[in-house]
Parts: sequence; C-alpha cells; structure tokens
Amino acid sequence: MRLMRRLWNRSTAIQSGEMVLEGGEPPPAHPQNLVRALRLRNALLVAGLCILGVLAICQALKMNDFTKRITGNEWSGWVGYREADSPNFNDRPEFTIVDCIVLHSTAQHSLGATVQVFEDPNSHVSAHFVVGKDGTVVQMVPLTKRAWHAGTSRLDGVDGVNDYSIGIEMSNLDNGRDPYPLSQYKAVAEIIRRCRKHYYIPDNRIVSHAEIALPPGRKDDPLGFNIPKLIKLADSKS
Ligand SMILES: [Zn+2]
Repeated sequence: MRLMRRLWNRSTAIQSGEMVLEGGEPPPAHPQNLVRALRLRNALLVAGLCILGVLAICQALKMNDFTKRITGNEWSGWVGYREADSPNFNDRPEFTIVDCIVLHSTAQHSLGATVQVFEDPNSHVSAHFVVGKDGTVVQMVPLTKRAWHAGTSRLDGVDGVNDYSIGIEMSNLDNGRDPYPLSQYKAVAEIIRRCRKHYYIPDNRIVSHAEIALPPGRKDDPLGFNIPKLIKLADSKS
C-alpha cells in the first residue's frame, strides 16, 4: 500500500511538473519509469471506478428486488390491489431469467378461499397473484421468489416451470361454463403489463397450466379462458 501511495504521489508530481530536486534542478530523465508510473496510476483509477460501478449496480439490484414485490408507488392508486403473504415459496435458482407467465384457475368459489389455501403452510401451493372475478388482485409471493403453482412441468423443452415463471391464479370453477368477466381479464392484463416493466415476457410465453403440466393431461386449467383475448388486452395501451 505504501509503495502504491509513493508511486501515486510520484506520478502526480511528475504530471503536474512539481517534482524538482532539492537543488532546484529538474529530475533526471527516466522515460520508461515515468511511463510505467503513469500507467500504474491510470490502472488504479480504472480499478477504483470499476469498484464504484459494481457497488452502484448492487445497490440498484437491491432496490429493484424491493420493487419486484410491486408495492408502493407502482401499484398505488390502483383500486383492488392488496397483499397477503404465502409461506409457500422458495428462492429461484441462481441466475434464473424470468420470462413466462402461467395462467391458472382456482377451481374454488371465492378469492378469499384461495387466499386462505395459499396462506396455509400445509397446502404447499401458492401463486404470485390471485385475481378475483371483480378484478381484485392479491399478490402473495414476490416476483423474485419461486411460487409453487406449476408442479411437474415443461415449457419449450425446459423442465421446472416454477423456476422461471410468474404464476397467476384466477377465481373460477374451472368447469368450462363458469365465465371469466371482462374485469378479470383486464386485471390480469394489467398484471402482465406491470410484470413486463421488470421482465421480458413475449406473447408466446403467456401459457396455460394445461399446456405445461406433465404428464400431458394432468391439468386442464384455466378451462374456458381465452388467452388470445388476454394477450390483445395486455398489448393494448389502455
Ligand atoms: Zn393450475
């Protein structure tokens, strides 16, 4: 450290023209030494800037992690949004890129009943969002975490869809007759738009649980839901 400080002082003095011998004479010329000292100083400067950059990125990621709960400003003013905590989640595998949304129907009578199931640690199931028929949205798991909604599954040849997806459960009896009101479609479309502020999720990666469940046929939800209609709503600006 002391050596580095000496080199730093020396190169600074050389550059600013302050370095003279005691007798007032200019220093003897050692061009190679001077160049080496200047290079070292520049390298130290670059290394320092790199460290600052990394620290800034870490801080930004930390803040982003908080906002991915989609709390506070991001949802404020949106009537019908609330949070509940499900204990049924874990970490996504390291370096996972979230790039798809899996749609489900709850096969239950009410939003409250589904929230209760997801709050129960013994149920071992959850989703990032639950959406009521009136468009009420309850977020139960942060987007950065791995919710337990898809089970054994595969999308485009990649197993374990829970690892890299966002799960949205819609209140519906899943019998093919129970309707999905427009308010519910609009709420899900709004969730997709907001998730897309954080992740790149192309239209063809918005899929039903039925499409990805293994073995094929294990799940049929969300039965009767029109995904192209949802995608059109999500892609529109309104
Ligand atoms: Zn499902």
